[in-house]
Amino acid sequence: SEQRMIQSEKLSVVGQLAAGVAHEIRNPLTALKGFTQLLHRSAEGKQRYYEMMLTELERINYIVGEFMVLSRPGQLSQLVSYRIGRMLEDIVPIMDSQAILTNVIIQIDERPDVPNVLCDVNQIKQVLVNLMKNAIEAMPEGGTLRIQIRTDEAGDVLIEIVDQGVGIPQHVIDRLGEPFYTTKQSGTGLGLTVCFKIIQAHGGVLSLSSEAGEGTVAAIRLPAEGKTIDQKK
Ligand code: ADP
Ligand code: MG
Repeated sequence: SEQRMIQSEKLSVVGQLAAGVAHEIRNPLTALKGFTQLLHRSAEGKQRYYEMMLTELERINYIVGEFMVLSRPGQLSQLVSYRIGRMLEDIVPIMDSQAILTNVIIQIDERPDVPNVLCDVNQIKQVLVNLMKNAIEAMPEGGTLRIQIRTDEAGDVLIEIVDQGVGIPQHVIDRLGEPFYTTKQSGTGLGLTVCFKIIQAHGGVLSLSSEAGEGTVAAIRLPAEGKTIDQKK
């Protein structure tokens, strides 16, 4: 569809840019971090500045990390047959520590007999983490984050990340996946860009739907092992 075409155009432009920029930034960044730590030893009473510098350095480091993912066009290393539910068993304990701070409860609902997917495990984990983070951030007053794993009508693996958060208005939905587009005070706007790219590289489809004030559903369809997905669906 037209929506997806625009999506991949955005991705290729970012990819070209990212390839050049990310590598140039990583090295000076590492040096900067080292000198900041050195400086700290002789900066009595200036603890606060040091912490601010480190926070900003970490932020740049994170952005560069996301950029590096974008700069590798559809590159999947080490495809392995994996159960999505097993990935979540690794991720949920980590996300729980963030969720608990805002009274978010994470529930996993995995149907039996869902086929494995052939995937780059670290990349799919990154997608799940990014989507779960968004869901948690959408529920500052708490709520339930439900993850449903099942087989869809076509036999593909369907993972739905369902939140009870603020929802996404139409004008924001239209811009999702656009690099650096964020509505958050200290967001990067790279999380979904990375998600779209990774899912596309796996031959899958990621879509978000939302009812303002009711919450959001992020749906990932991945081809069951040994299948390819019908992208038109
Ligand atoms: P970031 O989280 O850094 O803002 P993302 O690419 O992850 O960047 O998300 C982009 C924007 O999409 C967010 O700023 C937010 O407005 C919107 N968004 C994404 N997921 C959700 C969600 N589950 N609920 C509400 N809004 C969302
Ligand atoms: Mg995000």
